Amino acid sequence: MELYDSFALVLPRERLLRNEPMRLHTSFRVGGPADVMFAPAGEEELSLALKHAKRLGCPSTVIGNGSNLLVKDGGIRGLVIRLGDAFSETRFEGGDVFVSPGQSLARLSQMAMERGLTGLEFASGIPGSVGGAMAMNAGAYQGEMKQVTQGARLMDPVSGQVLSCTEEELCLGYRESRMLKTGEIVTRVHLRLQPGDKTEILAKMEDFNARRRDKQPLNYPSAGSTFKRPEGKFAGALIEGAGLKGTRVGGAQVSEKHAGFIINAGGATARDILDLIALVQEKVLKDSGVKLETEVRVLGEDA
Ligand SMILES: Cc1cc2nc3c(=O)[nH]c(=O)nc-3n(C[C@H](O)[C@H](O)[C@H](O)COP(=O)(O)OP(=O)(O)OC[C@H]3O[C@@H](n4cnc5c(N)ncnc54)[C@H](O)[C@@H]3O)c2cc1C
Repeated sequence: MELYDSFALVLPRERLLRNEPMRLHTSFRVGGPADVMFAPAGEEELSLALKHAKRLGCPSTVIGNGSNLLVKDGGIRGLVIRLGDAFSETRFEGGDVFVSPGQSLARLSQMAMERGLTGLEFASGIPGSVGGAMAMNAGAYQGEMKQVTQGARLMDPVSGQVLSCTEEELCLGYRESRMLKTGEIVTRVHLRLQPGDKTEILAKMEDFNARRRDKQPLNYPSAGSTFKRPEGKFAGALIEGAGLKGTRVGGAQVSEKHAGFIINAGGATARDILDLIALVQEKVLKDSGVKLETEVRVLGEDA
């Protein structure tokens, strides 16, 4: 039996896709097909999908909004679980927010502002999901998820068992978390925000977004900053210093506007982007002795 048909026996077909091009689900707009893609509507369906994948001996991969992913041109074998709109319940209880992983981070930041709650202004221009933001400990302008996190529910990707973790147990660091190491899936997040002045909160969000528009190549597909910030330095400055601004491999380019961003300047393949990443790493190492590490997560297989 085909893999899709086997999943269709146990999961709702309306949220199950076959040979789904990953370029439609990543902000880089590259990536070959996922054999099967499923968007669960909650924990129960997520657990069902994971258990079925285990029974079939089929690998599973969790993604959120695909805004920090580089999926290779051969695509992803097995099951890709996309946590999006279908799994985005959000409840405010005063300053406490209980939110499902598929909620858009930017939308959540907006909802908090509308309620006069401060703490998520930094997140208003980050195009990820709440689950992806937790896994990456997303941050900007001196803010990060860690600062507002109280705890989260995690699902074991093999057994489907759920456990509750405190903020400490999530081990959130600079673009780091327990989830990135263990593969555990965030199914619920508890954040705590503080009461604030709505006008001030909105002004802060607008200021951050204006700064983004000014500095970042937002009119091209990318996955944000390609590289992590090396201790005490800026990746963009090192790349610019190595004379790499504007460098191209195929359709991939080091942004002219912000050298820390590799963009899809048109028709890029994942191979182009990976080759450009390798070139940048090699030249920056030669130029400044700094080994740049990717912030972007690479998934899938070569074509
Ligand atoms: C224009 C642009 C600007 C950006 N600016 C910023 C910025 O200022 N700061 C910043 O930190 N990032 C930034 N990013 C990167 C990206 O938006 C963040 O890393 C975001 O948090 C990723 O969320 P996502 O839902 O898109 O995750 P994805 O890209 O889908 O996944 C990222 C990782 O998280 C894992 N993951 C996703 N969901 C879950 C879950 N529920 N449980 C466990 N693991 C999960 C995936 O397996 C993967 O390893 C930017 C990206 C773009 C395109």
